[in-house]
Amino acid sequence: MPPVWKTDMKKILDIRIQNVREKIAVDDIDTFMVSTQENRRYLSGFTGEDGQYDETAGVLFITADDLKLATDGRYTLQATEESPNYDVITYDKGLTPALPEILNDLKARRLGFEAERLSFSQYEKIRDLIQTTELKIELVATTDLVESLRIVKDKTEIDHTRQALRMAETVFSDVVRTLRPGMTEQAIAWEMEKRLRETGVDGLAFPVIVASGPNSARPHAIPGNRRVNPSEPILFDWGARWQGYCSDTSRTVILGEPDDTFLSVYQSVREAQEMAIAAIKPEMSGQSVDAVARRHIEAAGFAGKFNHGLGHGTGLAIHEKPRLSPTSDTVLTAGMLCTVEPGIYLPGWGGVRLENQVVVTNNGAEVLNRLGLDDYVIRL
Ligand code: ZN
Repeated sequence: MPPVWKTDMKKILDIRIQNVREKIAVDDIDTFMVSTQENRRYLSGFTGEDGQYDETAGVLFITADDLKLATDGRYTLQATEESPNYDVITYDKGLTPALPEILNDLKARRLGFEAERLSFSQYEKIRDLIQTTELKIELVATTDLVESLRIVKDKTEIDHTRQALRMAETVFSDVVRTLRPGMTEQAIAWEMEKRLRETGVDGLAFPVIVASGPNSARPHAIPGNRRVNPSEPILFDWGARWQGYCSDTSRTVILGEPDDTFLSVYQSVREAQEMAIAAIKPEMSGQSVDAVARRHIEAAGFAGKFNHGLGHGTGLAIHEKPRLSPTSDTVLTAGMLCTVEPGIYLPGWGGVRLENQVVVTNNGAEVLNRLGLDDYVIRL
């Protein structure tokens, strides 16, 4: 018997596909080719992954009446099971040689493609093929077509994110209790990863960051063999995936007594986060939310020490829209999901970042995290 969620999933996919059909109709696109991995999954349920940038697990073709998923033999069974809405086509010499037949069947005239994903060489191959086979098809570049739908989450997507977050937070709470001076960043990161895997998550949303002392001044530090010491910041940034959806959290802790620098940096970051979350509401731009946190950090005497954007959306991808940053003109609406992650980084000393995930509601923001910001001192 198929699992219950599949019935719901079918309804959800029908709505998403309908939304895409309406969007492509505006640009007079009769056939839309979806090659971005996350968009493909979002519109079909097919979980095949591309492996690397020049590989593909398949593409979708969406028209007003047809849904086709073209893939190679490695994925045929999986695609058929996961995407019953779609007619699965297996190609054996790569996608491009199979295109004339597929496009002929679909009576394609204006073929929309995803400009962000199709490489220049793939584009050239398709363009040449169309010319040599005398298919009368116009190629139409699209940007953000599916991404603009993915930016607002439905209940299922928020539930999956919440579940990923629960599992990830539990692991952190357990690991942080075992921290002792002399453990290496790598060993701590591995402990996080191992326990995340053991809780049964799909996988990691990204490699775990554990950065101690001066290393924590690098926002995207890679855990190394540095040993953690008392009275220095230890920054964690980690996330899990559940049903494809990513969680993303940062916390900064200290072994033993914090000094005044730590206390003032931590307090400023914490206030910046709380103020930004309190400010979030529909109609606000990503830029203005970012400014709330940034101004507070500057006023606290740390101008120029918060050297990244305040937050980003998460979903099937770890970084998606909306962005909260000095250059983001995205206007927030209810149902958007994003991180709020201010940080202060002092070269030579270290950094503090605190990251929560929130959902924009009708009149504000709901924090999805359960893990608070109070327990940052680990007693020795
Ligand atoms: Zn993040």
